[in-house]
Amino acid sequence: MSPSANPYQISGLLAEFADPAVEQAYREHMLPLVVRHLRVALWVWGGLILLFGVPDLQALGWGRDFIILLSCRLLQAGLLFGLAFLLGSKPQWASNGCAVTGLEIFGFFLFLPIYFLRPDIASFTVTVIGLMLLAMFLFVPNRLILTLLAALVGYVLTLACIALKGHGAEIFVGAAFLLMLPVITGFFAAQQLHIVQRKQYAMFNQARQANRELEQEVERRKLLELELSRQATTDPLTGLPNRRQYEMLFRRERERCRRQNTAISVAMADLDSFKALNDELGHDAGDLALKHVARLFQQHLREGDVVGRFGGEEFVIVLPDTGAAEAQLVVERLRSMLEGTPVVLKGQPRCITATFSVSVVQEDESEVAQALRRVDEGLYQGKRAGRNRVMVV
Ligand code: GH3
Ligand code: MG
Ligand code: MG
Repeated sequence: MSPSANPYQISGLLAEFADPAVEQAYREHMLPLVVRHLRVALWVWGGLILLFGVPDLQALGWGRDFIILLSCRLLQAGLLFGLAFLLGSKPQWASNGCAVTGLEIFGFFLFLPIYFLRPDIASFTVTVIGLMLLAMFLFVPNRLILTLLAALVGYVLTLACIALKGHGAEIFVGAAFLLMLPVITGFFAAQQLHIVQRKQYAMFNQARQANRELEQEVERRKLLELELSRQATTDPLTGLPNRRQYEMLFRRERERCRRQNTAISVAMADLDSFKALNDELGHDAGDLALKHVARLFQQHLREGDVVGRFGGEEFVIVLPDTGAAEAQLVVERLRSMLEGTPVVLKGQPRCITATFSVSVVQEDESEVAQALRRVDEGLYQGKRAGRNRVMVV
């Protein structure tokens, strides 16, 4: 089947999906409903069979004929009730249709003795058979082809009984036409029913599929949105917050510290002689060194602290709830940890150092850039004083 072909094509005559796998899936989907309907049909069918024993008794009295008919009725009802009972533990018997079809055919054999033993109601019996043929199509859930098979067997058996009884050609032909009506009516009515049910199933599945695709698309877009927002807020090389992001985080933390009446400090780190490292080992090694520094800073700061890439080989550190003395300690710890943690570049371990400048944010500074201007001055002094040190401004 080509990918664009409709997998839910229905073969009109048998009223089943042309694709056996789809038909199988449909039957599995319908199984609980079919089992429920079939069990009700079997209980009603068995009940009616037993109920009609009453007029038999009235007409025949306790005697050989009544016992034969009663045995047939009991056997048939027993099989029907038995199947209804077994379907509880073997629901798959309802879907392949063999059990119920076998029972329908066997049921005709058990029902037809009444035609010989109760000649007083022969025409009534034929009428009941007609109703049974119709009911098989409409009330007993089964595959259409199997129901047709059982109905044709019942039809032929009934006509054989009429022929055996020797009623003559006129009655035989009349009965043949009369019984043909419920078979044809039942077949086409059931065919329409089966087709409509399958069309509903196909629409349900297509809607479900469309829904699933829509959900996947929504999910994909959500991820895309997340990725875009990540890209817009992080530095691609180090993965640290970029300027836009750390400025925003600073503002948020600044406000919170104001409300809670705590200090907030900012620091800058500028890697020492980084140009020389680039010149010596190449730009790729320089990039690795920048990633190494970013990772170390992130690992050694507290959860609420923010470390961002200011640009080039410069980093910004925001320390909420941290006053001057504590900030100096934190930054000093970062400095010595960086100095003492070598990174392997081009096969050689290299120690990177940085000059730091740290300051408590002033009351009138609500943007990080204002504080950074002061901090930058400290950095300049630190470089002049020999690098690899912490300046407090
Ligand atoms: P100082 O100790 O005075 O800070 O000296 P420095 O060499 O670190 O400072 P300078 O400003 O002269 O040079 C900074 C260097 O950082 C120059 C530039 O090549 C390098 N750099 C900036 N951004 C990147 C980057 O993304 N990757 C790499 N590999 N190098 C970078
Ligand atoms: Mg610099
Ligand atoms: Mg530098």
